[in-house]
Order: sequence, then C-alpha cells, then structure tokens
Amino acid sequence: MNNTTQPSILLIYTGGTIGMIENPETGALLNYDFEQFQHLVPEMKRFNINIGSYTFRPPIDSSDMEPKYWVRMARVIAENYEAYDGFVVLHGTDTMAFTASALSFMLENLGKPVVITGAQLPIGQLRTDGKENLLTSIEIAAARNAAGEPAVPEVCIFFENRLMRGNRTTKINAEGFNAFRSYNCPPLADAGIRIKYDTAQIRRPDPLRPFRPHYTFDSRIFILTLFPGITEEYVDAVVHMKGLRALVIQTYGSGNAPQKPWLFEKLKDFDRRGGILVNTTRCSLGTVEMHRYETGLQLLQAGAVNGYDGTLECTVTKLMFLLGQTSSKEEILRLLNTNIAGEITISAE
Ligand code: ASP
Repeated sequence: MNNTTQPSILLIYTGGTIGMIENPETGALLNYDFEQFQHLVPEMKRFNINIGSYTFRPPIDSSDMEPKYWVRMARVIAENYEAYDGFVVLHGTDTMAFTASALSFMLENLGKPVVITGAQLPIGQLRTDGKENLLTSIEIAAARNAAGEPAVPEVCIFFENRLMRGNRTTKINAEGFNAFRSYNCPPLADAGIRIKYDTAQIRRPDPLRPFRPHYTFDSRIFILTLFPGITEEYVDAVVHMKGLRALVIQTYGSGNAPQKPWLFEKLKDFDRRGGILVNTTRCSLGTVEMHRYETGLQLLQAGAVNGYDGTLECTVTKLMFLLGQTSSKEEILRLLNTNIAGEITISAE
C-alpha cells in the first residue's frame, strides 16, 4: 500500500492500436514503443499521480494474445501489488474481453483496481479515442471511495465513457468508438462531467483473505457452435478430438439444441469418457435455462453444465482456468456452477 498522499499507478503496455503507428510505405498499423508514445499524452503529467510503466517487448497485437501473456500480466501485477494503488493495462481491443475475463479469475480476492483500456484509433492520430480512454482509466484506477478504499477493486474494461466488469464484456464493433458492451451486467461507472460509480454493483474483496494470484491454464477445449444442418460427422469429429477435455456448446436461445438422438448420444458419450460440457447461448442478452424446453433438457440429460448468462469470452477463459487448476471433474463442475468473480448470474433452475 502506498502511504504517501500521491497515488501510484502502474501502466502495463501490452500493445494494440492505442500504441500503433502507421507504416508510411504500406499504410498498415504497426506497434511501437510505450516510451515513444508517452510524449503524445503530455496530459498524464498533469495528474497528481505517480505513474510507473511496464512494457511488453515487443508489444503485441492482441490477436496474438495467449495464456502465457495473461500469466505475464498477472505476474507483473502480483509483483508490484504492494508498490502501486492500481493498475492500467493498455491492450488491443480484439481480445481485450478474453484478457479481462482471464485476469478476473487469476487475481483471486483482488483488492486494487485493474482497468484495461485501448483505442480504435492510434493515440498519435488527431481524432483518437485513446487519450480519453487512457486518462479516465488512470483516474479510475487511482480513485478512492468515501472510506478511503479503492473505488473499484475489480478487473474492468473502460471504453468510451463506460466502466464495465471485465468478465461481462464483449467487443461488438469493429469500427465505432463505442466498441464494448456488457449486456447482462450494468456498468460499474459512467464518465460524464463527473465519474459516477454504481457502488452497489462493485465487488469488494474479503478482508479476511489475502490476494492470491493463480497462473495455470489448460487450453484443451473446443467451441461447438450449433447451426441448422449441423451433421453427425462434424459433431463426431469434434467429440473425438485428441486430448479434448471440455466442450463449450454455443446453443440457441435459452440453451436449446436440435432434438437429434445422435447428438444426444455423442455428447453423453463424451461426458461418460470424462469430458466436460458447458451449454452457453448464442444470444448476448439473457441466460441459459435448460429446463425451459425439451430441446434444452436433453443437453442437461447428456451432462451439460449451465453457462448461465456468461459471455463466450468468460465461459472459455473460466473453463481453461479451471482445467488448469484441478483435474477433478467434480470440482470443475462445482466451480462452473459458482459465481467466482461476478461473471455469471445464477438463476434458480
Ligand atoms: N488488432 C488490434 C488489437 O487488438 C485492434 C485494436 O487494438 O483495437 O491489438
């Protein structure tokens, strides 16, 4: 904990459009160094905040994001946890929601803000959204509530005036500045003339337990997206994939799948062989309710776990995280049915 009155924030620059520059010959955007772009935001010096930095070398386009980089981010946060009051992660927008979800599971009982942000236009361009996103993220990461505690001790995404719980977000726009949504969870704060925090929504750590980072993942999962006309051969190939430990089934509506006996049999067989099935819906708003229709019930009977109202990014990273923590199927199923970082709303089925 920082004892001086001036808060300390660690900026972790991983890459992404926010720090890119145009190659004058090809016109394509390339990553460049954080030090080079710091001078483009002189406003940072006007904060009464001590800002440290850590740069990924080389910075990466977030399309190249992988669990090993999540581990690096979590380690940087853990190693600097006592020295800083909050963390701002600069990240490409493409996989930002995956990173936010992964970090929310890795950083157990987090007591300090981790605000992830980026931009749709490089920070060096005149109409950039990056400056606004960066400056407000720093302010939020340093903010304290009336009790003097960190205002938002959560992993969040700040984008286009809105602070969202990281594991509830999804990127929905490849062009507009308003690129992220949190359909099933209200924003944690809105930034207008003032930053208005929704304190009732904000999660707080358990004061009796320590902050505990975790660093292991297992990516041996597959996303099976259902579509009308899906064939038996396709599903058969998926469930017999070598080494596959878990299958996320992207179903229709409230968790429905075609009523094909072969589909039920193949999924049931995967479950019997020790595989884990999670039912998540293609719909952005709302939740999976497997009891609602016969078409959902058969997935429940095949052994599928409810993915509730979690985003695909959240379901995928949670599964990879849990598979990395334990080999006990029973424990993984229990934790999939538990809201561990504000990621799902458990409805009574
Ligand atoms: N491709 C970039 C990335 O995700 C896009 C962005 O930053 O917005 O790294």
